[in-house]
Amino acid sequence: MPELPEVETIVRRLRPRLTGRRISNLEILWPRTLCNHGPAPERIRNQRVDSVERRGKFICLGLQDLRLTIHLRMSGRVVFDCRGENPNHIRARIHFENSECLTLVDARKFARIQLWPREQPFLPRMGPEPLRRETVKEVLDDVVSHRPIKAVLLDQHILAGIGNIYADESLFLARIHPQTPARNLTPRQRSRLAAAIPRILEAAIQGLGTTLNDYRDPNHQPGVFQHQLCAYQRTGKPCLVCGTPIARIVVAQRGTHFCPRCQRERAK
Ligand SMILES: [Zn+2]
Repeated sequence: MPELPEVETIVRRLRPRLTGRRISNLEILWPRTLCNHGPAPERIRNQRVDSVERRGKFICLGLQDLRLTIHLRMSGRVVFDCRGENPNHIRARIHFENSECLTLVDARKFARIQLWPREQPFLPRMGPEPLRRETVKEVLDDVVSHRPIKAVLLDQHILAGIGNIYADESLFLARIHPQTPARNLTPRQRSRLAAAIPRILEAAIQGLGTTLNDYRDPNHQPGVFQHQLCAYQRTGKPCLVCGTPIARIVVAQRGTHFCPRCQRERAK
């Protein structure tokens, strides 16, 4: 699933090509792709794209008097050139007046486009962005949950944009067992995790995201951060720090990868 670094990479590719363009039509080929929060879909016609931003794992187009968000979920991709794509997997197209077209491709049909009134808060329940160490530290200091820290990191209401890959990588870097109840983290563990999360995410943005399965940018380019992963999907391979085989367990219904020696359950 595209997480914060992949969506950030996508947005950086979209921004120069879409900003200032007028939308001529939003074509929905799979009806459930569109979730409407108020504005009639026809209102999108002739709207100019004023901004292209990311919020959590959402692509956000700021239009003149509405907002359009895209969530790619498991396997969605947005592409400028849809030649070579399976036509049965095309869920929506945003047509622009200069005959540019952004196509939403998704084999699994989970990707969603949402329309929001411009003046109202959108994505109101999402937690803060995790790219600043101070912000992450404040959030972690306030967490009183008994849930495993891995589950808390995946909760978009607590921090926005972290998914399975970067939760595992951040916990590895911070040397924290993924099943540690969040409220039991020591102050030193919280400090290490608050430093690790932005560091991993920034490195992954520099690496243009992680491509293990479906992820490609809008120009079909894969990321390269998969070559820097230390824990995620390295089950049985030696820990890059201590050589112990990386273990896989299930936490919050998600496959979770960690080093049993570097990330011991007892607080260090
Ligand atoms: Zn290790």
